[in-house]
Amino acid sequence: MDIKFVKRDVLKEKPDQKNLGFGKYMTDYMFVMDWDQGIGWHDARIEPYGPIEINPSCVTLHYAQETFEGLKAYRTKDGRILLFRPEMNAKRMITSNERLCMPGFPEDMFVEAIEELVKVEKDWIPSEPETSLYIRPFVFATEASLGVHQAISYKFMVICCPVGAYYPEGINPVKILVEDELVRAVQGGTGFTKCGGNYAASILGQVRAEAKGCTQVLWLDGVNRKYVEEVGTMNIMFKINGEIYTAPIEGTVLPGVTRDSIIHILKDWGYKVNETHLSVDDLMKAGHDGTLEESFGTGTAAVISPVGEFVYKDDSVVVNDFKIGELTQRLYDYLTGIQWGNEEDKYGWTREVL
Ligand SMILES: *Cc1c(COP(=O)(O)O)cnc(C)c1O
Repeated sequence: MDIKFVKRDVLKEKPDQKNLGFGKYMTDYMFVMDWDQGIGWHDARIEPYGPIEINPSCVTLHYAQETFEGLKAYRTKDGRILLFRPEMNAKRMITSNERLCMPGFPEDMFVEAIEELVKVEKDWIPSEPETSLYIRPFVFATEASLGVHQAISYKFMVICCPVGAYYPEGINPVKILVEDELVRAVQGGTGFTKCGGNYAASILGQVRAEAKGCTQVLWLDGVNRKYVEEVGTMNIMFKINGEIYTAPIEGTVLPGVTRDSIIHILKDWGYKVNETHLSVDDLMKAGHDGTLEESFGTGTAAVISPVGEFVYKDDSVVVNDFKIGELTQRLYDYLTGIQWGNEEDKYGWTREVL
């Protein structure tokens, strides 16, 4: 791919690596590429990060024809730069775009766009422990038209920002509200895609959870509100009586890259992983009778997030005395070890940006 480079005159000042937060500081440059009907993808460029002009009648603003991805670039102790399974994000975005009638692309194009941007921005990849460069690719319709139809023009963009440890005080367990009224996804809908529309519909659940002193929502299946599916931005796993349970990928749950990686590791470590429908009643029962040993969310941003408590209707259960579980900690250490290049990458998951 031919990528034009548009240099900026003055580079931004880099933020303090000890105070990065999440998604606050965008880097100097962004990747942009356009798609037009009859032409396909064209005009790939890396240009100064900044506002873009869109028409007020732009399809995305009204009908949310938009998809996104999220991955990270990690700096190793010896200064190398690693991406983690970027081809999985490429595949998932192709699937998301298909569902939203948006243009696809070869996997290589996606990975190359990210690699080239990361090379330009390599000085932005922080080196403090547990910091990384978060990469946000997204595609959206740009056509100016209020008619509801498949748009005829799109943009593919990639922006990035250095991020700190997701939990600056260390990984503390979170309190989760099981949502028993609102739903996130149903079969035939867009639950398996990473699209902005899914998130817009989920914010009310998040607001309600926070009002009840919880930090996350656990979504149940959209038909019976009976089976556990996933958390706001993470897949979720439970260790019950020594076995692992997580919802199957059948159209409503987002197929997480972290979820897939953790399942591989758990099976290698000899755990039985049940990708099955676990009812919230069975979950609460396991919490009460002490067989729910650990629970954790999985996602790129936080990697592994231990759950300390589930609140469901008038009931609640505390998991592992509100402390991070032994297996949860071991998984966190091992997976982040691979991502930051401190563990042997025996699965071939990392990809060095040269
Ligand atoms: C992105 C996302 C996840 C986690 O996926 P990863 O590839 O592991 O980052 C889980 N659930 C939802 C709804 C998501 O949007």
